[in-house]
Amino acid sequence: MNLQIIGSGGMWNKENSASYLIDNHILIDIPNGSCKNLYNFGNNIENIDNVLITHFHGDHYFDIPFYLLKKSKEDELDVIIYCNKDGKKKIETLFKLGFPSASKKVLKRLNLKYNFSKNFKIGNYEVTRIIVSHGDFKPAYGYIFKNDNLTIGFTGDTGYCDNVDYMASICDYLICDCSLILGNESHMGIDDIKKLANKYPNHKFVTSHMFSETIKEAKKLKIKNIIVPNDGDFIINGEDV
Ligand SMILES: [Zn+2]
Ligand SMILES: [Zn+2]
Repeated sequence: MNLQIIGSGGMWNKENSASYLIDNHILIDIPNGSCKNLYNFGNNIENIDNVLITHFHGDHYFDIPFYLLKKSKEDELDVIIYCNKDGKKKIETLFKLGFPSASKKVLKRLNLKYNFSKNFKIGNYEVTRIIVSHGDFKPAYGYIFKNDNLTIGFTGDTGYCDNVDYMASICDYLICDCSLILGNESHMGIDDIKKLANKYPNHKFVTSHMFSETIKEAKKLKIKNIIVPNDGDFIINGEDV
């Protein structure tokens, strides 16, 4: 498995908006700027054929028009987008806003499918979608990927909640919303991640969606199972794990 951090930042700092790439072809969230970020890190957008969306705030899906347009110009036309049912309309509306005259042709040319299931397979991964708690915004999802060797989770945007604790209890690596220094009902903070890291010492916690002040504080942490990544870092980089 390969897991690359495409973005670890919040909206208003120089780090890219939160997004992650598995095995060069599975993208978790496609926020503002993510296509540029993928190019900057040497990834081929045309290789990406699975896009999972945690929730429909702009900083998690606003690059979808650029991705779909690029894919439509390639030979590999398969795209599966995983989201809730309402998401399909949002994505198509956004695409039409971005490229009104091309939209019909692009959507017709692509082999674009949607998957609204809670459980599905992508290659060797069993994937589970799980509800998290993002203030008043509903639904907000996390995702759990499991293969024979490893379980990894992505909390998406969330305050601390039972399902985050559940993910932490089963995931070898959990990529966490750590927007804040002190968490609230919409976003977790360093205080929440420290608690999780202490409770599950054999599991690793990767901070993400961080605002500038949070990054400064998080970089000072010396806790062996908390990883504070830079954009572009590989958290997992190997065929055998
Ligand atoms: Zn959000
Ligand atoms: Zn967000």
